[in-house]
Amino acid sequence: MPPPPPKKPTPSARQMEAHGAPRLDAEVREKIHLEILRRTGAYRTDDHFLLPSGHHAREFIDQVLVTAEPGFAEGLGAVIAKHFAEWPADVVLSTGPGASILAHCVARALPSRPVLFYANKGVQGPQRRVRLPDEFARFVRRGTKVLIVEDLITTGETIKLLIQMVGEAGGTVVGIGCLWQRNSKIDLPMAVFSLVTRDFPTYDPSACPLCRAGRSLNVEFARAAPPIEEPLEVSRPRSRRDRR
Ligand SMILES: [Zn+2]
Repeated sequence: MPPPPPKKPTPSARQMEAHGAPRLDAEVREKIHLEILRRTGAYRTDDHFLLPSGHHAREFIDQVLVTAEPGFAEGLGAVIAKHFAEWPADVVLSTGPGASILAHCVARALPSRPVLFYANKGVQGPQRRVRLPDEFARFVRRGTKVLIVEDLITTGETIKLLIQMVGEAGGTVVGIGCLWQRNSKIDLPMAVFSLVTRDFPTYDPSACPLCRAGRSLNVEFARAAPPIEEPLEVSRPRSRRDRR
C-alpha cells in the first residue's frame, strides 16, 4: 500500500492573501477575532448603548477588557507577532500605556526578541501630543527597525506622529499592528495589519433608530471617564459598584 500523501501545511493568512485567495478568508479570520473579543467581554453587540460621547450605538468595544484576560491577550498578541515575524523588529513601540499590554504580548511572541517602549499621548489645547521616553533615543539609531502596536485605531493621527518621531530618531517603522481599526480609510504611509477592521455607526440621540424602535437604553458605559488618548467612544466602564 502506498504511503498516504504528505499533509499540506496550512498556508498562513498572509500567504493566502499573497496568492489572491478570496476576500472570504479575511472575513472568516475577522469573524474568529471578533468572537475572541466577544469572549473577553470587550466586544458587545445587539444592544442600545449610551456612549461616553453622548451618542447611541448598537455595538461597543471596551479597550480595557480586551487585555483583561492574560491568556486572550497573549493569543491576540501572538497573531500580530506571527504576521510580522518576517520583518524582524528591534523595538516594539506601543502608542500609549493603554496598548502596552498588547504590545508586550506581541514583543514576547516575536522571534527577533525586540525591546518594548511605550509612548505617552494626550491632547494639549487643539494639539495632539505624543511623547517618547528619553530611553527610546538610546535604543533607536540609524537602521533600527520599529514595529508600532496600537489597540484601537480611529484617526491614525497618533501613529502618524510616531512614524515621524521614529524617523527623526533615525529608525525605520517596519509595520503597524493593531487589534481593531475603526476606519478603513486611514491615511497612513503604510498598511495596517489589524485583527478586526470594522466601524460601527453611532447615532445622535435625536436620529437614533434604536430609540425610534423603543429599545431601552443601556447606560453601563455612559458615565465612563472621557477618553484622553483618542477621541473615541471607547473608555473604561464604570466600576461594578457604580452600576445599578
Ligand atoms: Zn438611541
